[in-house]
Amino acid sequence: MISKRSESTGEVARIENYHRPADLREVSTLKSEDPNVVFLAGGTQVNRAPLDRELPQTVIDIRDIVPTGIVKEGTDVVIGAMTTLQELADSDLVPTALRQAAGFIPTRSIRNQATVGGNIGAGRADSYLIPVLIALAAEARSVEGNIPVEDYVRDDHEELILDIHVPVPVGECIVVKESRSHVALPVVSAAVSMTVDEGLPNYGLSGACVAVGCVASKTIRLTEVEEAIVSGNLKTREDVEAAIRSAISPKTDILGTAEYKTYINGVVIANAVVLCLEALV
Ligand SMILES: Cc1cc2nc3c(=O)[nH]c(=O)nc-3n(C[C@H](O)[C@H](O)[C@H](O)COP(=O)(O)OP(=O)(O)OC[C@H]3O[C@@H](n4cnc5c(N)ncnc54)[C@H](O)[C@@H]3O)c2cc1C
Repeated sequence: MISKRSESTGEVARIENYHRPADLREVSTLKSEDPNVVFLAGGTQVNRAPLDRELPQTVIDIRDIVPTGIVKEGTDVVIGAMTTLQELADSDLVPTALRQAAGFIPTRSIRNQATVGGNIGAGRADSYLIPVLIALAAEARSVEGNIPVEDYVRDDHEELILDIHVPVPVGECIVVKESRSHVALPVVSAAVSMTVDEGLPNYGLSGACVAVGCVASKTIRLTEVEEAIVSGNLKTREDVEAAIRSAISPKTDILGTAEYKTYINGVVIANAVVLCLEALV
């Protein structure tokens, strides 16, 4: 049993019930008996400090039923949801932007433990993986079928993810992060992707995705900025920065003021947009 003593109340919080099911049917029975159960993958989020954080009452250890490993299937790379972030960072099969994003988690010991499914399931606003998975149009597969990672996160899905399907990118994808120090939590975590189609105006740009964490309660897409990029309405880097800043409303917290976060997200994400355009045209 995992237990933690709260610094503020002195009370000990415990995970009271631990299950390690052998198949998906058992998972669905456990979930229907208690909708508040939490899946235990790498446990880096579930067991995370600070010590007075609420621990779940009941966990389902999914290591025996959720796949690990990375394979190529047709035009997709399929990543088992129990694959660790270190395995992702080390894989030659995975698109470069996704490998880089996995490497943004600063500590190797965390990367060795944390899983891709756990990162999506945790749905943190400062996730390094969710923006790039959205920018790469990745889908999460569960027993209920495939769903875009974007929808899974946006609509607070909770079904068990078995694997993630990442189409081979047809354009360019750039990931960016910014934090006060190498190990500090980020104030910028974003991914920009673009596709081209010869014959179209504005250098043949056919689509753009700007997926941004750290500026809202979960990762969001800046759809107005995306449309302005594709239509060619943003003529200069300053135009891109201004469009990004007017599309976000980060909150002041211990990591920085709203003004600082608005400023720095504009600079860093605009840089990603410019790099993407330069790589394509
Ligand atoms: C020091 C430290 C720094 C960290 N920094 C970051 C950071 O910068 N960015 C970041 O994103 N995270 C960060 N994390 C959080 C965490 O490490 C990652 O989010 C990690 O990828 C979670 O994976 P896990 O396997 O440990 O998940 P777990 O802790 O096991 O589970 C996390 C959540 O995901 C759900 N879940 C697990 N597996 C699945 C699945 N297959 N399908 C559906 N739901 C599932 C669980 O129900 C639970 O709610 C940090 C953690 C620590 C301890």
